[in-house]
Amino acid sequence: MNLLEISSKRKRLRTDMQKREIYKLENNKIMRQRRSCPRCGTGVFLAEHEDRVTCGRCGYMEIKKKSKQ
Ligand SMILES: [Zn+2]
Repeated sequence: MNLLEISSKRKRLRTDMQKREIYKLENNKIMRQRRSCPRCGTGVFLAEHEDRVTCGRCGYMEIKKKSKQ
């Protein structure tokens, strides 16, 4: 294996991981993990933060409700 093959393999692995972050396989069905933006519609996903979700396209922000115990 030469250096080019190694680097291309790494790139492919990283892409697979990014997909897995968004989609989760559950009961042989692909479940959407991330919510899409209510303003931009489906296809534009909201970025998950610790206390909020934001849309990088239109700037939509939604505060996550924390359930205090
Ligand atoms: Zn949006």
